[in-house]
Amino acid sequence: MLGSVANRRLFEPRTLTEACRMLDQEGPLVPMAGCTDLYVSLNFGTLKTTRFLNLWSLKELRSIGVRNGQLSIGALCTYTDIIRSRAVQARLPMLVAAAREVGGVQIQNRGTIGGNIGNASPAGDTLPVLAAADAFVVAASSAGTRRIPFVEFYTGYRQSVLAQNELIIGVEIPAVQGRQWFRKVGTRAAQAISKVVMAAVAGSHGDSPRIGLGSVGPTVVRLPSTEAALAGGAPIADAQRILLEEIAPIDDVRSTAEYRRRVAANLLAAFWKSRR
Ligand SMILES: Cc1cc2nc3c(=O)[nH]c(=O)nc-3n(C[C@H](O)[C@H](O)[C@H](O)COP(=O)(O)OP(=O)(O)OC[C@H]3O[C@@H](n4cnc5c(N)ncnc54)[C@H](O)[C@@H]3O)c2cc1C
Repeated sequence: MLGSVANRRLFEPRTLTEACRMLDQEGPLVPMAGCTDLYVSLNFGTLKTTRFLNLWSLKELRSIGVRNGQLSIGALCTYTDIIRSRAVQARLPMLVAAAREVGGVQIQNRGTIGGNIGNASPAGDTLPVLAAADAFVVAASSAGTRRIPFVEFYTGYRQSVLAQNELIIGVEIPAVQGRQWFRKVGTRAAQAISKVVMAAVAGSHGDSPRIGLGSVGPTVVRLPSTEAALAGGAPIADAQRILLEEIAPIDDVRSTAEYRRRVAANLLAAFWKSRR
């Protein structure tokens, strides 16, 4: 079996401090959370690494709470944790909507938000939500912690600013004003990776709308020109034309670029219509 665990080494830290020390002293190590993505690559034989850092028992990365007015979600929180959290339901319902559409119940019980970010797929369902919410990724290493604006986290396809000795320890989300909206378009409702996924905030008190879009480029994107056009009162057809200039979808096994372009434009219209 390609995914054989023979000749692989698993490091089992009991605390975050110990995990950071292991990354420094034993690295490079591949962080392992729910393993729902990693196991697929292991099984396909595409993951050549042999040394892993198992984060699963780090309880300190499992909490959800509101601190200093910001919603804070630990990296090891699963989709089920997010769906059940009163704080997330109240403050970030579009994240609950996204979590409900990830995989099936088994994946929701095991897959984590930190893993979705760490996996860095442009199709990750929580990522447009974090983009539209102006979230911060919190990263830690032995040197300390830093907050990275989510929109600056990815630098290219499956690449991010996270250093090899850093872990994602959570996300922080400032209070979101205005109606939230989430829509995933896939082959079917469950167990399907998105063809296009959009999260959006309508904005209130004169704030511009904020739109995060996935599966239309090498990374999840925000649409600043489309947002500005909508804020300035442009007709939706004009905003759709601008959106099409801001995205660069490709043909792949899940969809065609043309389908993605049409769906992305339709989702924009559906979001804008729904805000009233
Ligand atoms: C059947 C199936 C269906 C799926 N459906 C969906 C879906 O609908 N939508 C969707 O978005 N995804 C889906 N996925 C993908 C996957 O479940 C999610 O991306 C999940 O959130 C990954 O979390 P994990 O904890 O399992 O990550 P892991 O597999 O443990 O890790 C994923 C990556 O992130 C890194 N990583 C994990 N945690 C950290 C951390 N704290 N710090 C730094 N790096 C870290 C790992 O090194 C690895 O590179 C599906 C997967 C499967 C197998």
